[in-house]
Amino acid sequence: MATETEDKEFVPTFEIKSHPTDIRAYQNPFPDYMSAMSNETSLIHIAQEIVISTDFINKIKYFIAEQLEVIGDNYLDKLSYQDDKTVYTGSCGLAFLYIKLGNGMYKRDSKAAKSFLEMAGEILETARDEVYKAYPAFLMGDGGPWTLSILHAQATGDKDSIAKYTAELVHLHHHVVCSKKNNEDELLYGSAGYLYCLLLVRKLVPEANINDELVKKVSDVLVEHGIKLAQSLGPIPPLMYSFAAKQYIGAAHGLAGVVYILLCSAELMGSNENMDNIISCLEYLQGVKYASGNFPTQFGDTDDMRLHWCHGAPGIAVLFCKAYSVTHNIKYLKTAVQAARLVWDRGLIKKGISLCHGVAGNAYTFLQLFKVTQDAEYLYNALKFAEWCIDATKARGRPDRPFTLFEGLAGAIYFLNDLLDIKNAAFPGYEL
Ligand SMILES: [Zn+2]
Repeated sequence: MATETEDKEFVPTFEIKSHPTDIRAYQNPFPDYMSAMSNETSLIHIAQEIVISTDFINKIKYFIAEQLEVIGDNYLDKLSYQDDKTVYTGSCGLAFLYIKLGNGMYKRDSKAAKSFLEMAGEILETARDEVYKAYPAFLMGDGGPWTLSILHAQATGDKDSIAKYTAELVHLHHHVVCSKKNNEDELLYGSAGYLYCLLLVRKLVPEANINDELVKKVSDVLVEHGIKLAQSLGPIPPLMYSFAAKQYIGAAHGLAGVVYILLCSAELMGSNENMDNIISCLEYLQGVKYASGNFPTQFGDTDDMRLHWCHGAPGIAVLFCKAYSVTHNIKYLKTAVQAARLVWDRGLIKKGISLCHGVAGNAYTFLQLFKVTQDAEYLYNALKFAEWCIDATKARGRPDRPFTLFEGLAGAIYFLNDLLDIKNAAFPGYEL
């Protein structure tokens, strides 16, 4: 629910109306890039490099500083009483945001950076005492607290803790490679979410010495599970995954999320072993795409409804941008471009401004394409969605859990902060 502070401070300069054909979205009130270029270009400057205007950067910084206080007043004090320690909707999500802020925009201001890292440290200390010992994944499992503890130890120069927490993270591999239980494989709870932890630490904290053999083992298990289920259900696609006995397609619970992590694993490891399966899955996903550019929620669905990161084109466009970067196959880029056009039209969804199913998460589609193409139009699109997150108080909707990383305000702040350092911007818990 929008807070009093938000209502007082920001008044949108644009009209908010329902989308003419999509009842789940608002109509995009912004001029498209070509019209905007002929009228106002105050958001971006195109010279040798494409940069965001100082005014807009200041607007983002002001909003972040103000809304961090809102989180502090409404959420932070209550964290110690909450059971949810996950990155997705719990205290560790806030720890992730604070580590990002401590390493990023406040880097030059050591006092502020130190304060963010201290807050992250306190949250993680409590979370480590209460790990669930159930799921290995980053977003909804124990992989989150251990991975963030490693990132935090690196940010604070604590080498002993890097080794200690890495051992805990590695220990979780039993859930994936040794368990006789038929565990989930998807990103949110399952083995793909654990593989994300290993790959993120491998990339950002080389001194943690994540073993390549372990990464390979976990990737192989994911592929084996995918082949097994695919063979039991039918010959196409070559890999299939289920969550709660349903075969989803999108980033959070479905095939696209697992294939994205496998593709990153293959790229980071310099291995082409699983590429044939990955390419066949990409082809299959292209085949089930709707004419609009969106994707079904589950295999067999025909309703073009959900357009957000967890279900629909925004989460899947991340996969196709990566597929284009790795293979240079132009048709994968075209799929991502089509998704971005659709998100520009229908992506201001009424669910709110969150990452998982909200405007901030949808805006990452444009950041992906900007990073891949350096086309200023996508940066313009992302900034207009940022403007919506900042100004469209009445249209922000009512997030399920209003201050959290994946379903609330903390996620919108994470996205806005990523705009200040686009080269290193990455959808948290997913993009590598
Ligand atoms: Zn969602």
